[in-house]
Amino acid sequence: MSLLIENGTVLTCGKTPAVLPNHSILIENGYITRIAPKNRLKVSAGKRIDASRKVVAPGFINAHTHFYSTFARGLTKTRPAGNFVDVLKNLWWRLDSALTIEDCYYSALVPLLESIRHGTTTLLDHHASPHAVRGSLIAIEHAVRQTGLRACLCYEVSDRDGARISREGLEENVAFIRRCQRAAARGQRSEVGSRESEVQGSRFKVPGSGFAGHSQPSTLNPQPTTAALFGLHAAFTLKDATLEKAAACGQLLGTGFHVHVAEAESDQQYSRQKHRLRVVERLNKFGILGPRSIAAHCVHVNRQELDILAETQTAVVHNPQSNLNNAVGIADLVSMTKRNVLVGLGTDAMTTNMLEELRVALWAQHLFAQNPSVGFSEVVTALLFDNLKIASRIFNLPLGELREGCVGDVVLIDYDPPTPLDASNAFGHMVFGISQATVDTTIVGGKVLMQNKRLTLDLDEPRINARARELAAKLWKRL
Ligand SMILES: [Zn+2]
Repeated sequence: MSLLIENGTVLTCGKTPAVLPNHSILIENGYITRIAPKNRLKVSAGKRIDASRKVVAPGFINAHTHFYSTFARGLTKTRPAGNFVDVLKNLWWRLDSALTIEDCYYSALVPLLESIRHGTTTLLDHHASPHAVRGSLIAIEHAVRQTGLRACLCYEVSDRDGARISREGLEENVAFIRRCQRAAARGQRSEVGSRESEVQGSRFKVPGSGFAGHSQPSTLNPQPTTAALFGLHAAFTLKDATLEKAAACGQLLGTGFHVHVAEAESDQQYSRQKHRLRVVERLNKFGILGPRSIAAHCVHVNRQELDILAETQTAVVHNPQSNLNNAVGIADLVSMTKRNVLVGLGTDAMTTNMLEELRVALWAQHLFAQNPSVGFSEVVTALLFDNLKIASRIFNLPLGELREGCVGDVVLIDYDPPTPLDASNAFGHMVFGISQATVDTTIVGGKVLMQNKRLTLDLDEPRINARARELAAKLWKRL
């Protein structure tokens, strides 16, 4: 199966970013096999897409999000929060406690479809549903596979709801990691299974028959689309015994962790008072950090902690919109980069649009430094370089770059530059121009998920939204 994207302005990104005007990209069996000037790339067979007057870029990567937060949109039944812990107690811990397995499925499907519209092709999710733990990750995986996107899933273990739920969280991670490892060993494909999911004894209808459909095996994406990390909520809701168990499981399974770290100063205060260690020191003591682990936020870390993050090659993921919304502070990306910390960019579910997050990241660094010249290369690096390193480590695939041999995750954006565009200013165009343009086409592993701004999936979007509204209304009544 081949796909030829013809005559676009190709932004390669990656280690040696280039701008290639009037170039075509050939994708075969999920991988980019050729990039060449339009006239030098003639292919007779397969699908073709005209990319003239469009920028062709790698699919964007969202390195930290929470699908389950979808049903919070428009929710008014919350008390005003005076600080970050209030935000958790008044909103997120009430919402996640009320989620059913079907809620988990629909609250994932909605932002996944929105991600396609914004050209976000790989997402690292962090899930919580304390009263519907078992089977929650499989339900979300089902949504991921139906949309054809790539997602790394985990369940956030926490001791906040007692020992039984904490244990269930550990077990859910172990079961899902093993499932992904078995699938990888078999040569997993983004195939959609049956039309119904049976999880935790509850049966619910899955709308549509799944985009891949068993009648079109030739259109299956040949690469893995789901992966797993071991999820942990945050140090301040985890006892030492739970961290010990999680670390032992992670080591046994050879996996990394995905955990919130020093999002608010209160996380540090708790850690110092209760454990006489700073948050990063405590996580490191238990072996939670490492090259496959993700420390989301790190707004309140000191130099010693940054050095530990750098030494252990742990990826920090910056989520500026969330940090600004929760008024917890702004992470110091310049210091992190100076101390060789890998810093990616996530949205913490504030948006599925990575270029929106990129812009806010830049404004936040300007404000933090009180200097409008600070932070440009750091935020661009986070989205376009470090995110690809983080995702490539987890999926064991060459993601986030348009180069021969890389996966065919590509977006076409309506952008005919009104000023000169070349490698020297491409990222300026990205922040100030391309970010304001519309994504026209989204492709994952050579499979077209959206073309001419229309989803090509066999999913009934109005029905999905209608069911999501029904479920959200019911959930709001339970709060
Ligand atoms: Zn988060």
